[in-house]
Amino acid sequence: MSSTDSPAKGSFIHRIIEKDLETNKYGGHVATRFPPEPNGYLHIGHAKSICLNFGIARQFNGHCNLRFDDTNPEKEDIEYTQAIQTDVEWLGFEWDKLCHASDYFEQLYQYAVELIQQGKAYVDSLSAEEISDYRGTLTSPGKDSPYRSRTIEENLDLFQRMRSGEFEDGAHILRAKIDMTSPNLVMRDPPMYRIRHTQHHHTGDAWCIYPLYDYTHCISDALEGVTHSLCTTEFEVRRPLYNWFLDNLPVPCHPQQIEFGRLNFEYTVVSKRKLAQLVDKGIVDGWDDPRMPTLSGMRRRGYTPTSIIEFSNRIGITKNDGTVEMSLLESCIRDDLNQNAPRRMAILRPLKVVIENYPDDAEETLTLANHPNRPELGERTLPFTREVYIDQTDFAENPPPKFKRLVLGGEVRLRYGYVIKCKEVVKNESGEIEKLICTYDPNTLGKKPEGRKVKGVIHWVPAHYAVNAEVRLYDRLFSIPEPSASGDFMDHINPHSLLTLNHCKLEPSLSEPLTSGVQFEREGYFCLDKGHSSKNGLVFNRTVQLRDEWEKIQKKQATLGT
Ligand code: ATP
Ligand code: MG
Repeated sequence: MSSTDSPAKGSFIHRIIEKDLETNKYGGHVATRFPPEPNGYLHIGHAKSICLNFGIARQFNGHCNLRFDDTNPEKEDIEYTQAIQTDVEWLGFEWDKLCHASDYFEQLYQYAVELIQQGKAYVDSLSAEEISDYRGTLTSPGKDSPYRSRTIEENLDLFQRMRSGEFEDGAHILRAKIDMTSPNLVMRDPPMYRIRHTQHHHTGDAWCIYPLYDYTHCISDALEGVTHSLCTTEFEVRRPLYNWFLDNLPVPCHPQQIEFGRLNFEYTVVSKRKLAQLVDKGIVDGWDDPRMPTLSGMRRRGYTPTSIIEFSNRIGITKNDGTVEMSLLESCIRDDLNQNAPRRMAILRPLKVVIENYPDDAEETLTLANHPNRPELGERTLPFTREVYIDQTDFAENPPPKFKRLVLGGEVRLRYGYVIKCKEVVKNESGEIEKLICTYDPNTLGKKPEGRKVKGVIHWVPAHYAVNAEVRLYDRLFSIPEPSASGDFMDHINPHSLLTLNHCKLEPSLSEPLTSGVQFEREGYFCLDKGHSSKNGLVFNRTVQLRDEWEKIQKKQATLGT
């Protein structure tokens, strides 16, 4: 069994479930659900919950539903329900049933009528402001609303008329009658229904009253036969209410709510509401901008489902809401791509090199392995020609100390090719370097030069055959690790989170369709941005940088003479 088969195995939640199975608490069955509100795109925090819920169902041969928690029609949209399904499937999970909380609106209404009949719910007609005044505070008890003593008949009549559309938004609400003096504010007669004359993306105009989250969630769980309702720790205070509704209604089963720590992530925000602001204000170019911590953004950036599941496994499931370092996620994708990405050469900031003594009409075809340790990934060919591009940063007119790349009068190896020596720097009228005139040592293809050491190895592409591309380099979206923790998160946007390089030159094999990410040698891991590429130009996104191990690799290669 690979590590992706049962994500986040062995957590305290797994132990609870194992115990429940031993005691046959739910007849030996395990059922979970992933319940997003369709008010935005899923992000890396949701991935933790997805891996947990679907992973548990997989591990214990149970079921996991995808349920849209769609009780806020104003903020929700069908665009989001579709994007959410795409993302869950992309991660490799299959839901048992696709459900909508709104599918239960009729049943929820009937249960509410039942609570009214039991004298456990009432229609309140205070204004929103008054309700909040009557609620009390953490240190002072609340006060009963004057409408709390309405008769059952009166409540049934009003609630029915709320449903039939007789009242304006905000005229009345339905509340559970629990305890206005409870030390837990959640239990002070929580609202169950509000009036909203709004179209709903799933139920159209069938309803003008909508149930609230607390009332809806527990009943939806029960109706779906969920055994373990897993949610994040901010719901811990709401657990008594979850249980109160289920205890007071003839629901088919009573799931148990278990809370786990939310994922917070460095240098970004993981909240749909906040991410929506970045989209709306044009800070990013959509929910799938590769800088976004959304699953669609990460997919466009080149993250693989394997790397995200591995990340969820590594962070594990605990009660604490820790902030996770970006480097942890980066190391997961690096490990994956290091194993699986074919290697290619790409020049991001081209500088032309003319190899003077290489015959004008000559050309050699080099055959290169796609991956240094995986021969099964095949080979590609690369022409060596008189004119090549190297990266501007691999040449220095005034080299800093220990500079091991190309300098005037110095030698360097073109990776997989020959050793060249720089003879002359040609500049244009404004003094910018236009090209380098070099010579090559014909005796150095796959061999060390005789009688001297050449330390530097640089990458290159053949000028005539190079493929043009735009390459986008991404950095952190925020300039501080916890943008949400100090003031307005929008004040901490990193203005340098995107660097676009327009004149990149890629080795010719990159014009062939790619099915995975690639390593641009010495530069990092990249992926083709299919949606943004055209016949006139490919666009590549940098997924992640290489580790700072280039120096080490370079030394090794120089000694091997490759
Ligand atoms: P957001 O603020 O992004 O809208 P939410 O909690 O309101 O987050 P939902 O769509 O309601 O988002 O969440 C669906 C499920 O995903 C819930 O069970 C929720 O607890 C879980 N979830 C959301 N964000 C995180 C997170 N950062 N870490 C772990 N689980 C999360
Ligand atoms: Mg939410």
